[in-house]
Amino acid sequence: MTMPVSFLRKCSVCGTESIQTGLASTNRFGSPDLDLRPPEMMRSTMHWWIQECPCCGYIASDISEPTNVDIEWLKLVHLPASTGKGFQSDLAHNFYKYYLTNLADHKQEDAFDAAQHAAWSCDDAGDRDNAIICRKAALASYPHPLPPEDNDALYVVRADLMRRAELFDDLIDEYSRVRFSEEILNQVMAFQIEKAKEHDTGCYTVEEAVSPLKKQ
Ligand SMILES: [Zn+2]
Repeated sequence: MTMPVSFLRKCSVCGTESIQTGLASTNRFGSPDLDLRPPEMMRSTMHWWIQECPCCGYIASDISEPTNVDIEWLKLVHLPASTGKGFQSDLAHNFYKYYLTNLADHKQEDAFDAAQHAAWSCDDAGDRDNAIICRKAALASYPHPLPPEDNDALYVVRADLMRRAELFDDLIDEYSRVRFSEEILNQVMAFQIEKAKEHDTGCYTVEEAVSPLKKQ
């Protein structure tokens, strides 16, 4: 069961105290997506994954943690000019701002996660153009080198980002000859390459990719 919890936080940028809400507990039933987006109920808890200072607009997983950004930076930071329009989801906007903050703080893995979470928020809002921009941002901040234990799984997640960002040929070129020690990853990659050849940008679960009864 999903349980929110409220607490007081002092913003490390402007010093304002505010009540923030986080996630005390949640659960997940079913298969994650191919990019490891969790199933419900955790899937619908993203608005509790980040905190926003109501005074200066600083966004972080914990706004009391120190950062390189300051009030002037937060006033000037804007969304990608390439969108031509704003995000259709406030949550996507906030995750993208958190992505930029992580870049400013040289937190590459957190930047990667934040861009991916921005993409998920765009997906939920039906904001396809900005979802692609967010996935390309995640690809640009893809952590490298990776911790060895995470390497293969994250490398496969990267392929899903590429397919859903319409980088079909790049995906096929890069992954066609790659083989993993875990057979499930080879099955997922065979599915990804098949879908890339069909120019399919759909959202699929791991279960759908490895099941003989694949979604058509
Ligand atoms: Zn603040």
